Amino acid sequence: MNVVIVGADSRKFTEEQLRIAKREIASLLINYQANWIDTTIISGGCPVGKKRWYDISCDEWRDVDDVDDHLTVEAYDQGGIDTLAKIVATELWMKFIEISPEVNQWNDAPNCAKGFKSRNLEMVKMADILYCISPKCYNCDEWGRTGTDYDADNMEWSIICTKCKGTKSVWNGGMWTSFEAERQGKKVVRIVVP
Ligand SMILES: [Zn+2]
Repeated sequence: MNVVIVGADSRKFTEEQLRIAKREIASLLINYQANWIDTTIISGGCPVGKKRWYDISCDEWRDVDDVDDHLTVEAYDQGGIDTLAKIVATELWMKFIEISPEVNQWNDAPNCAKGFKSRNLEMVKMADILYCISPKCYNCDEWGRTGTDYDADNMEWSIICTKCKGTKSVWNGGMWTSFEAERQGKKVVRIVVP
């Protein structure tokens, strides 16, 4: 089955929250392995930060992939959940597919190069289940959050924090994908990192 993992990039998390998120991803993927489910992990190759190599053997980022025999993952170092999903899938030797945008913009480029929206829709289409991992509201520490209005013409959702009513303080790129997946009847699990 195809397990899609989306969520915020690293700029929205603290270091500690990223550690928690990584453990969360590991525990849910191990669960698929433990139940002998033939699983492919899919994430979106979020292009935030620098493309570097994460050295799994040493647990650190490298600027060049120059250590023989070390298992490394090429990914954006501030890619957040997308990058963590790729690292954890590799650590667990699970099948992994990256659906990366071809241009760093929401809509496709005039030459048809894939933007974020098409990238997201491609992942939704592939998903048997989609996990969206986000930090808590950075304005008020509230856990609960609510998707509200859907603007069908523009395919946009408003989302507010249930406590402080902030919008920007809870929004991240993975949420659009999670709402669209839900709208298309896919199974969606949202995880909030405290
Ligand atoms: Zn809030």
